Amino acid sequence: FEKEMARLDRLNLVGQMAAGIGHEVRNPLTTIRGFLQLMEGKDEFAKSKGYIKLMIEELDRANLIISEFLSLAKNKTVDLRPLNLNTLIENLFPLLQADAMVSDKNIKTELQDIEVLSLDEKEIRQLILNLVRNGMEAMSRNGTLTLNTFMDGDRVVLAVQDEGCGIKDQDIEKLGTPFFTTKESGTGLGLATCYSISARHNAQIDIETGNSGTTFYVKFKTKQKY
Ligand code: ADP
Ligand code: MG
Repeated sequence: FEKEMARLDRLNLVGQMAAGIGHEVRNPLTTIRGFLQLMEGKDEFAKSKGYIKLMIEELDRANLIISEFLSLAKNKTVDLRPLNLNTLIENLFPLLQADAMVSDKNIKTELQDIEVLSLDEKEIRQLILNLVRNGMEAMSRNGTLTLNTFMDGDRVVLAVQDEGCGIKDQDIEKLGTPFFTTKESGTGLGLATCYSISARHNAQIDIETGNSGTTFYVKFKTKQKY
């Protein structure tokens, strides 16, 4: 028991340190970005516009990595409340649709009657966003992403199904490893975050993948003991 407590303390410390560093690093980045933007608009820097644009893009990338890393490292206690997953998806849908439209893709939902779950709304939002973004990124133009919910015995299942490129056998076991990415500008933190959110909800993630696309299943238990 003492060993377990010590481990938790360490985890907490790492999380707190990560949050602290993230904060301390992000502030100066924000300042630099602000000044770069100011310079971008000035005639005297017209010749360097290309460089300035590049610097801003790189800063945005650093910021993205910090944000995703923080949401992963934050060893937070989940704020569980009774929530219908369908309602959450319906609320999130306009945002997802806007995302899809920008890249010429389609998104639809097929929501069946499901039991109310104990969920941390913010975290489940993040989980859905990450899975949907991956699905979108895996598809070429006009592909359709489908969000399904249904009951499987006493479990509530969320299925995120895409018509994308599928996942190679040798990559499947690496999924969820922080910083594993096959994308040129990926962070490799999206799925790691999904797995940790899922674990905090006592849920399970299963994957089906092939040439015609990939489906991520998040399976929630309804009869929870906390
Ligand atoms: P990132 O999206 O930044 O690459 P993720 O952790 O979200 O990081 O995903 C890790 C890797 O898993 C991706 O680079 C991709 O190779 C693979 N992957 C995840 N979801 C899908 C999907 N729906 N279809 C195909 N590959 C996927
Ligand atoms: Mg991703």
